[in-house]
Amino acid sequence: MRVVVVGAGMAGLTCALALQAGGADVTVLEGGQRLGGRARTVRSVFHHGRYVESGAEWIDTDHHRMRGLLDRYGLTLQGVGQEWTTIRRMLFRDGRMHTVDEIRLLDPSVDDQLRRLDDAFERIADGIDDPARPDLHPAAAQHDARSVADVAAEADLGELATLFARRNCQGEFAAEQREISSLFVAQQRAQMRVHGIEGTVRAHRLEGGLDALVQCLVDDLAPGTIRLGETVRRIQWDGEGVQVHTDLGVHVGAHVVLACSLVPLRSVQFAPELPVPLSRAIRELGYGTITKTALQFESRRWPEGYATTSLPAQRVYEPTVDQGGESGVLMAYAGGDGGRRLAVLDEPARIAAVADDLRAMYGLAEAPIGAFSRAWSNEPRFGGSYAAYGPGQVTAHWDVVRRPCGPIRLAGEAVATWTGYLEGAVESGERAAEEILGTV
Ligand SMILES: Cc1cc2nc3c(=O)[nH]c(=O)nc-3n(C[C@H](O)[C@H](O)[C@H](O)COP(=O)(O)OP(=O)(O)OC[C@H]3O[C@@H](n4cnc5c(N)ncnc54)[C@H](O)[C@@H]3O)c2cc1C
Repeated sequence: MRVVVVGAGMAGLTCALALQAGGADVTVLEGGQRLGGRARTVRSVFHHGRYVESGAEWIDTDHHRMRGLLDRYGLTLQGVGQEWTTIRRMLFRDGRMHTVDEIRLLDPSVDDQLRRLDDAFERIADGIDDPARPDLHPAAAQHDARSVADVAAEADLGELATLFARRNCQGEFAAEQREISSLFVAQQRAQMRVHGIEGTVRAHRLEGGLDALVQCLVDDLAPGTIRLGETVRRIQWDGEGVQVHTDLGVHVGAHVVLACSLVPLRSVQFAPELPVPLSRAIRELGYGTITKTALQFESRRWPEGYATTSLPAQRVYEPTVDQGGESGVLMAYAGGDGGRRLAVLDEPARIAAVADDLRAMYGLAEAPIGAFSRAWSNEPRFGGSYAAYGPGQVTAHWDVVRRPCGPIRLAGEAVATWTGYLEGAVESGERAAEEILGTV
């Protein structure tokens, strides 16, 4: 059985591996010249052996499939990891850095306010029996129609809690609160309950960089499986199978797995056209924006830990904290409106803007010795950072994008239950393969 997989990100690679293990004849078409998609480690601009993730960075304790892959290939996680809390270590506001204790002096009820907001989503999550089907929540339409901003407005947050909650949404969902369905947030909570672990979730980086994992997956595929530089332009399909057209040729298969963001699929021509609900979902599904900007300095002259800021840099941390040595890199992680504002600048201007913020925050007057900035919404084969189901979109699109349409299946983080994560990409890729192998 011949299967064409579109995209050599984590979903496409794991799908192809599972299909090959099941005896299928697989071709992976990748439009770009590199593998891994949104798992993209950057090394070349840095000195002293430092490396930084420009896309996905963290693997959480409850990401069992990802951890299984690391075990399979003998890869290890780095350092003690990071605990996800809304208030991280520091806040830069009004021209100075505040510690957590100082934040609580500024507003003694800030934790209670943030807990109220959290509890509101947990209550919605109580109605989700199966995180794979949030659209079956008894009051799905009602919660889906409301944005995170609507729920936050009811939580009566003060100024500080508002800033933390907004930064959390921009970081976690890569979007503004008005752009995210409250049912989507509740789905993620429900997912963590079902597939989570006892105790605190910690997140770790991969020792050696995520590209090491991508390389292991690629090495495991049969030689010649992946074809680079083959952007899919047109897909002809019927009950018998598919013809997948790229600039370089036509690939025939019994099935095609579209293991990529839905944004590039908006410019793929389908013949016949896809059913209206599916083509509408592909056209409309929300995508977040993240701009990651990293600057390397000869020596570390900053306190350890995450800093939330009221500045355009939004959140600043050191991704090289576990890499030792004198020199370190600071990362500014900007999502939502802030990510979009940075994205309209060219790369040197983004780096200069973040350098200004770092100067203000840490008094870093010296010039960086290496830097990059990646605005994921500027990259046509991604069109954003990851799926961000907007108000109304869970009930409209959730189930539609997860069902096969004849020989066509979507995979990729946007159609997973772990939406927005590497874990979701792997989950969706393996599921597509299982469905296809089940049809043999
Ligand atoms: C800034 C950022 C931070 C993130 N942080 C984390 C994190 O900390 N932890 C985590 O778990 N996840 C994180 N993620 C999410 C994670 O990166 C994604 O969920 C995952 O990498 C998506 O994999 P995928 O295979 O679904 O899609 P992709 O990685 O996008 O792979 C799809 C591939 O398809 C190719 N393609 C697209 N269109 C075509 C076409 N027409 N023809 C041929 N090829 C095509 C693309 O070039 C790409 O290589 C982050 C993402 C971003 C952007």
